[in-house]
Amino acid sequence: LSERLSGVFDRLTKQGSLSEDDVRAALREVRVALLEADVSLAVARDFIKRVQKKATGASVTKSVTPGQQVVKIVHDELIAMLEGEDDAGALKIDNPPAPVLMVGLQGSGKTTTTAKLARRLKEREGKRVLMASLDTNRPAAMEQLAILGTQIGVDTLPIIKGQSAVDIAKRAKQQATLGGYDVFLLDTAGRLHIDEVLMDEVQAVRDVANPRETLLVVDGLTGQDAVNVAAEFDGKLGVTGVVLTRMDGDGRGGAALSMRAVTGKPIRFVGLGEKTDALEVFDPKRVAGRILGMGDIVALVEKAQEVLEVEQAERMMKRFQKGMFNMNDLKMQLEQMLKMGGMQGVMGMMPGMGKMSKAAEAAGFDDSMLKRQIALVNSMTKKERANPAILQASRKKRIAAGAGLDVSDLNKLLKQHRQMADMMKTMGKKGMLKQAMAGMM
Ligand code: GDP
Ligand code: MG
Repeated sequence: LSERLSGVFDRLTKQGSLSEDDVRAALREVRVALLEADVSLAVARDFIKRVQKKATGASVTKSVTPGQQVVKIVHDELIAMLEGEDDAGALKIDNPPAPVLMVGLQGSGKTTTTAKLARRLKEREGKRVLMASLDTNRPAAMEQLAILGTQIGVDTLPIIKGQSAVDIAKRAKQQATLGGYDVFLLDTAGRLHIDEVLMDEVQAVRDVANPRETLLVVDGLTGQDAVNVAAEFDGKLGVTGVVLTRMDGDGRGGAALSMRAVTGKPIRFVGLGEKTDALEVFDPKRVAGRILGMGDIVALVEKAQEVLEVEQAERMMKRFQKGMFNMNDLKMQLEQMLKMGGMQGVMGMMPGMGKMSKAAEAAGFDDSMLKRQIALVNSMTKKERANPAILQASRKKRIAAGAGLDVSDLNKLLKQHRQMADMMKTMGKKGMLKQAMAGMM
């Protein structure tokens, strides 16, 4: 009987997995979504290839379509790719005064972001901040920063006409040191396109300032160009992080993925408006949902997966109540235990098992033991797992050797399986199993 049942289970998993056609069809739509979100062509192509490998053969949750399942896989992969450092918002600004260099194309939002960052550092971290504009091309740019400084109550370096960017950087450093500032932000001149003269100037500034952080500010609405911009600035200056501005607009922020893929540099912040408080720490989950524009589907699949886990547990429980508990069930239990913090943790939760838990402790059960036991089950054939009664000496020898263990280890596992099967039956009759399983969920 249990043989037949495990056969049914195998068919189920086969039916419920993603075929190559499913994946291909769904990925066509994902590709369109990525390109619409302005992810660069090459990055989109690479990304799709990666997901194709991962998705083919993956299992499909009941109550969602294969297409939706692929989107979930794409979403998870996207988050994994976008994720940079654990704490994207933590700038390296120990050793006061710490220089932070702001670079990027003209109009990308450097000056605004400089003020936003200054405000954040001042208000959230209690830092003493000095800002300096190195934009000698446009006098209005210096005024702009000074006005923002007054608004947020952050000092700006006094403007002296006729100084070069390098001179201003030197002066800022001096002033930051003398004035006891924790950090000084250097807002560099904009450039419409990447331009050698201005790039040389920023390099010279970098050399005198020796920045702890060089933040590349990029307009989140930038499309295919983002990759070139990021690669160029990173190549010339060595950026330490990216700030994506205008993420409050209609753009879907595909630039984030492009830049992350090409430079490998973490995205630190996103700009969400013109005001000086419209800056947030980069959240890969949010941006991933936005790039795909399919956030609802992702939520649906997550929900469905939860439901499936409950259904699976209930199915299992019904079988246990009928005294059906084979090696596959045991393996599932062992894996579940590993996931939930090991033997003691799980047994402690199950009524009537407290005593066993103590005994297990005394017998030296631990997680490495769980792993060994799982290895033993893995080493069994399908038939053996379904019906461990057929295990005689030669089979036992083969199984133990396959797991790199002794036959005595296997015998212990088999004994444990028998005990558990008996217990499941008893508990099932007493209606205790349901309670126990509920405690485990
Ligand atoms: P810079 O040339 O790189 O210094 O760019 P600016 O800081 O002067 O910004 C150019 C324009 O973009 C200004 O009008 C800003 O108000 C606007 N801006 C900057 N960041 C954002 C943002 O996150 N969202 C929106 N909506 N506008 C922004
Ligand atoms: Mg500016």
